[in-house]
Amino acid sequence: MDKKDIIPSCLQSFQDDPQFRVLLKSAMPVKSHRAFNAVQREGMFLPNGMLSQAGHAFIKELNAALPVVEATLATYGGDMIAARASSWRSGVKSRKSAHAKANQPAPPGLLKRAGSLAKAIGSETKAIVQRQPNLTTQQVAARLAVCASCDQLRSNRTCARCGCFVDAKARFRSQDCPLRKWPAK
Ligand code: SF4
Repeated sequence: MDKKDIIPSCLQSFQDDPQFRVLLKSAMPVKSHRAFNAVQREGMFLPNGMLSQAGHAFIKELNAALPVVEATLATYGGDMIAARASSWRSGVKSRKSAHAKANQPAPPGLLKRAGSLAKAIGSETKAIVQRQPNLTTQQVAARLAVCASCDQLRSNRTCARCGCFVDAKARFRSQDCPLRKWPAK
């Protein structure tokens, strides 16, 4: 049994298998039963998908009695232990990404977007009049690559900082990133 699979696999089994829950509880030290009861009463997760306080306390008890957890888990085959550990990990990953998505600030409103666009068109027109050289395809692509990995980029392709549509903004020679991640030409 891979040591790093013990706790994740135990947590997944605890959720999936009522028989395992009974077995584990009877094998664990009596002082840990409070944490067992709390996690069964309050649940392992908060409504936002993050680990609850009861969940944290429960994991602490499991870590304190690792040999007992390992012995209980050994009633499953090695493959099942690894599969449940991987299922737990992927659950954690998807809960984290759902949480991050839910907490992402709203994209800039219509008014801000319209104001930013008007300003950008104004300064771009000035740049054209002043005969400033145009951007190359590579320069535009480099700007967009920076935006693509920026946490200010919203799902509707606007920048939360300046309110611009990045696909348009990146093509304007006069524009720069409000966080100085890429300069004006
Ligand atoms: S313009 Fe700057 S701040 Fe906005 S998304 Fe692009 S890199 Fe991020």
